Amino acid sequence: MENRMKEFISSYESKVIPLYRESNLASWNANISGTTQDWAKSEKASFDLAKIYTDSIAFKELNELKKSGLIKDSLLTRQLDLLYNAYLGGQVDPALIAEQIKMETDISKKYSNFRAKINGKDLSDNQVEDILKNSTVSKELQAAWEGHKMIGPVVSEDIIKLVKQRNTIARKIGFNNYHEMSLKLSGQDPAEVTAIFDELDNLTRDNFIQLKREIDSYFAKRYKIKTSELRPWHYQNRYFQEAPQIYSVDFDKYYEKQDPVKLVAKFYDGIGLNVDAILARSDLYEKPGKNQHAFSTDIDRSGDIRTLDNVRPDSYWMNTLLHELGHGVYSFYCDKNLPFTLRDAAHTFTTEAIANLFGRFATNPQWMLNMGIIDAKESEKIADESRKALRLQMLVFSRWAQVMYRFEKSMYENPGQDLNQLWWNTVEKYQMVPKPEGRNMPDWATKIHIALYPCYYHNYLLGELLASQWYSYITTNITKNQSFVGDTAVGNYLKEKVFMPGSRYYWNDMIEKATGEKLTAKYYAKQFVQ
Ligand SMILES: [Zn+2]
Repeated sequence: MENRMKEFISSYESKVIPLYRESNLASWNANISGTTQDWAKSEKASFDLAKIYTDSIAFKELNELKKSGLIKDSLLTRQLDLLYNAYLGGQVDPALIAEQIKMETDISKKYSNFRAKINGKDLSDNQVEDILKNSTVSKELQAAWEGHKMIGPVVSEDIIKLVKQRNTIARKIGFNNYHEMSLKLSGQDPAEVTAIFDELDNLTRDNFIQLKREIDSYFAKRYKIKTSELRPWHYQNRYFQEAPQIYSVDFDKYYEKQDPVKLVAKFYDGIGLNVDAILARSDLYEKPGKNQHAFSTDIDRSGDIRTLDNVRPDSYWMNTLLHELGHGVYSFYCDKNLPFTLRDAAHTFTTEAIANLFGRFATNPQWMLNMGIIDAKESEKIADESRKALRLQMLVFSRWAQVMYRFEKSMYENPGQDLNQLWWNTVEKYQMVPKPEGRNMPDWATKIHIALYPCYYHNYLLGELLASQWYSYITTNITKNQSFVGDTAVGNYLKEKVFMPGSRYYWNDMIEKATGEKLTAKYYAKQFVQ
């Protein structure tokens, strides 16, 4: 049986390796050029790759191998588990999959090409964020927020169709809906995730209520209105997913004259995780037609790792670059002797955790001091406010992640319900931001993740929990240097315990091997709530 498994793997690898690379390259090119031609190529390549997993004869073989119970070698067992789930996800009529990919590509184009129209001018997402962050005029803020929300009606009907399509696919292979399928096939139990979210809701609610009062009284003063007049556009961000700047530290000013790309290269090199090869292949700055977000991609699991960004000299992009390169080093320093299937993160949220662990440094005064961005006097001056700001950021984000997780779960359980209302009910409950009077728009559809990165968002919050767990472990056991700057022990630890093993262990086993404990919320609570 083990020999049969080995034969299966070698035949699988000969098919998947070239198509995996081709599909990632095509997607990379399309995200940069934004042209119809490149998107068509990307669509075809994704389809060809996904088609591998629809092979029913191959799935039957995996099913037999799994049922035999005779695969004992740990590398083979792990590959069997991962491949079984991958093929199970593909046991659907290829025409349905093709349709799904086409729907996703069409929606993706609409997001990429959308620019908010405000007073006759086309504004990019970055420009909308600029207004929301800096203007103090309610009318301007409302116009920017509403202008951006006009992407909602452009894509909402398409998204509902796509959600139903995804559910059809999930039911055909024995799941209740796509949400349940996504979690289970990625090795997560929905009940376990919901339990963690409930626990976190309880841990953060009282603190958040208190902080929200502070936020509201700050904004009422800033805009010269009553707290009861505050609306979603008053929170300095399209979704209130990031902390409003209620504390006096303006991190952007420290980065105005900095080059975030140089800083990120210097930092990672200093901790023994050089990223020059990644940066050399990356696409870092804004261009017309280009995807306005940021991501990191492992093109071939053999060292071609890239990140797409739209870097500006500010704290947001410093954080984003540190984050994306965190994903980058996780892939880059994976053990290349592992089989192809295991040259990947233990789970998507474990790579998010590494990305978050590093992203947080962008507003850490100790890190900024050690990186030569500010001096000791300034670092001391902003220490207290920075700590409060990060705490606020974490609590605000945790409430927003609740909205995303609960909305998606409910949407897939019943896509026919009033989603506009569901969205605002969830926002009001977890973020405590009131719906504008009489508003009945598909505001949920303006968040690109709901359409294109489905049932994934909860992983960002699990990633924050694990980032806190790692930070606590590393600063207790590996280094006394709270900023990691210049300490190669950090890079060595991460390489050995986290990056090299790839996905050879089940994620909670990897975490236990690396930190001595399974995933727990207690270090996040210790860091940000108590
Ligand atoms: Zn990420």
